[in-house]
Amino acid sequence: MTKRPSLTVSDYVEGVRNNDRTILAKTITLIESSSPKHTEQAAKVLKELMPHSGRSIRIGITGIPGVGKSTFIECLGSMLTKLEHKVAVMAVDPSSALSGGSILGDKTRMEKLSVDPNAFIRPSPSGGTLGGVTRKTREAIIVCEAAGYDIILIETVGVGQSEIAVRSMVDFFLLLMLTGAGDDLQGIKRGIMELADLLVVNKADGENRLAAETLAGEFNKFLHYLMPATEGWTTEATACSSTTGVGVKEVWNLIESFKTKMQASGKYDNRRREQAKDWMNAMIEDRLLADFNSNKAVKKLLPEIEAAVLAGELSPTIAAKRLIDLA
Ligand code: GDP
Repeated sequence: MTKRPSLTVSDYVEGVRNNDRTILAKTITLIESSSPKHTEQAAKVLKELMPHSGRSIRIGITGIPGVGKSTFIECLGSMLTKLEHKVAVMAVDPSSALSGGSILGDKTRMEKLSVDPNAFIRPSPSGGTLGGVTRKTREAIIVCEAAGYDIILIETVGVGQSEIAVRSMVDFFLLLMLTGAGDDLQGIKRGIMELADLLVVNKADGENRLAAETLAGEFNKFLHYLMPATEGWTTEATACSSTTGVGVKEVWNLIESFKTKMQASGKYDNRRREQAKDWMNAMIEDRLLADFNSNKAVKKLLPEIEAAVLAGELSPTIAAKRLIDLA
């Protein structure tokens, strides 16, 4: 059997730039690979694509499972492709990072968008740490932008850590909420609310419509007391229905006015620069940690040192120093 010739760096770059979806998917597979050969090629591809990236709005979407994230993305995404936008959808799922299983699920979600020629849905990367998954997502954003996608939607579940990771890679962060999900602001911690540029009470339809609009009104009273997620922008709450589409256009209008306002004040670009710096720092941490964990001497001595710490025979500080000195 003859081996298929593998793609060159310029095959990847040209394919992505022409929005060849097969190559786009292959490029994302390449950047997700952890084999050293692929990592080297992926770095070259990314370097070529980087100057063509950045011309998008990156939007993070979060909320508890069942709140309607995929239904909302299907609705908003389809509305945007009709307006001639190109929409890429990706997910950061901490559960799949840790266990291989996925809260966001690989069920057939977003049926319309998945066959829409102006949309690209990238399945959630599996395996690795949350840090690994977020690195892959940041790089996938670059690839999709270089392919001409001007709206990047990044979905995550409302469980804490992943929100902070996603906030650090998006321009705008949206929190979906529900009525009747408990009076403790439905388990969504105040900290997550403080990350949001917009709160959207979903499922504002049928008998629930009035309750959803009332809840949005209550949030609006309460939001004044929180720190704004983005300086110069007042986070507000609104209600929508992702199944009927009522209110979704208004959500988009708010996102657009955010972009216009933040671009005019220079805060949009500032945040992106800060994010690039944070990304670099995260890469350094990842790399140092990976080198440490794969160090042979560390691997050999780790069980013994861990046992000594567990037994109370060695202080954690001395243990850490001993291991770090080995690496
Ligand atoms: P996710 O887990 O957050 O992605 O939630 P899904 O998008 O899978 O939605 C969970 C359930 O809520 C599904 O049965 C949806 O049909 C339903 N749903 C989502 N959005 C709405 C909405 O706006 N109105 C109503 N009535 N149901 C909705």
